[in-house]
Amino acid sequence: MAYRVTFIPGDGTGPEISEAVRRVLEGTGVEFQWDWQDAGADVYEQEGTPLPNRVIESIRERGLAIKGPITTPVGSGFRSINVALRKELDLYACVRPCKAYEGVRTRFPDTDIVIMRENHEDLYAGVEYELGDERTERLRQFIKDTNGTELREDIGISIKPISIFGTKRIVREAFEYAKANGRSKVTGVHKANIMKFTDGLFIKTAREVAEEEYPEIEFEDRIVDNLCNQLVSRPEEYDVLVLPNLYGDIVSDLGAGLIGGLGMAPGANVGDEYAVFEAVHGSAPKYKGQNKVNPMALMLSGVMLLRHVGEREAADRLEGAIAEVIRAGESVTYDMKPSRDDPTAVGTSDVADAVIAGMERVAA
Ligand code: NAD
Repeated sequence: MAYRVTFIPGDGTGPEISEAVRRVLEGTGVEFQWDWQDAGADVYEQEGTPLPNRVIESIRERGLAIKGPITTPVGSGFRSINVALRKELDLYACVRPCKAYEGVRTRFPDTDIVIMRENHEDLYAGVEYELGDERTERLRQFIKDTNGTELREDIGISIKPISIFGTKRIVREAFEYAKANGRSKVTGVHKANIMKFTDGLFIKTAREVAEEEYPEIEFEDRIVDNLCNQLVSRPEEYDVLVLPNLYGDIVSDLGAGLIGGLGMAPGANVGDEYAVFEAVHGSAPKYKGQNKVNPMALMLSGVMLLRHVGEREAADRLEGAIAEVIRAGESVTYDMKPSRDDPTAVGTSDVADAVIAGMERVAA
């Protein structure tokens, strides 16, 4: 039976990358029935919204989507289509594995961590008070009356909400991921020494979930600044990291840097009912139509999709073929070559050809 999956090719370099990914996923022999759904900048011009309802409905029906990057139209009133999609489908967990494959140019070849970032709460909840707004003044007054702290008048305020509900489900997701993928340790990341009522609540709740529900998996905690220091000195000591939204965002990019850059960093946004697989990188619009950028991040997101639906053997085969292309270092894009203008760099579609040939060699 074919898996029914919504495929959002995205814009900018998204369609080229998506085509390469479609080919390698089909090259595994697993059958897919794609529902192609455009979203993004061009759709905004035609349909007045970059994320039409038909896209959401398609994912609701299928439960699964793979998505190329989408440019956030500037000045349209839309903060980000990606954020809207996560909210609409309650995709509360952002999963980003950061694994350094042999052959990648990195100073941290032993990195193999998974970042589990909470997607809805924290400073990203969108509760903000603008400088000069009358409500900001009322909030300032409220803070003075109830807390005794007198904030300056020339101020903007963003609120950082963290709940037990939101924390429990992201921490459970981290442990469930660890269990399903043979990982042995989860590290909770916070700044509870300073933000006692938010990060403090996060780490206390995480500790309770760890002790009560997952005693067989090791749990530890790290203060976020210390974690960043340790990740760039001893990344091999870390396994699954679970973080509130903002730290998760920042540490994700750090993680991508550890493993050879954005062209290599896959991801998924997951909720209880739906999962959307997408690379960490954006639409890199300056390379649009040039068959130039690296499709591996979205290919590795495809590997995550295969594992998510239980196609472990096909996932291992595809990941193995990608790893072999990286190790050989020939059929790779410019970002993986020693210099960015290396004439031996190949194009997006050539990477797909090499990965498919690799899978066929293994099968023969
Ligand atoms: P970007 O990730 O698109 O590109 C930054 C730079 O990283 C590129 O110029 C390129 O040098 C490199 N790069 C990125 N992807 C690459 C790849 N696959 N192969 C090789 N090199 C790659 O970031 P940006 O320029 O800040 O964002 C462009 C647009 O994408 C913005 O509108 C942004 O909002 C959007 N965006 C979308 C997503 C998403 O859809 N999930 C994520 C991030 C940014």
